[in-house]
Amino acid sequence: MTDTLPCEGCRGLCCGPVPITETERKKIQKKVKSMPRKLREALENQLRLPGTCIFYDLDRDRCGIHDARPDVCRRFGYHKDLVCFRAPQLATKEKVTLADRPIGYLSIDFTWKHF
Ligand code: SF4
Repeated sequence: MTDTLPCEGCRGLCCGPVPITETERKKIQKKVKSMPRKLREALENQLRLPGTCIFYDLDRDRCGIHDARPDVCRRFGYHKDLVCFRAPQLATKEKVTLADRPIGYLSIDFTWKHF
């Protein structure tokens, strides 16, 4: 049995709207601004299913802002309230308590035009 999440091939099924804090918004903004223009535009213009995170990179089958992803994304799969249906045995940690107050949801309150 694996002890890491089986993300490959999942095509971002768990990557929907996630809450972000102001600190995370700034970090994502910095990341997006640092991307080469071509890469940024290609990522922005990918056709995603409604509900899929605006930063999910369908072409590469991974998070498009991985090192700047929000805390909830980092915790996904390992907490009892953030279970991955492909590896539910990994969700052993207690429910998540966010350290900071979220300012809104990525993909709903914050879209590409905000970054
Ligand atoms: S920021 Fe990355 S890991 Fe988080 S939901 Fe979006 S694509 Fe998925």
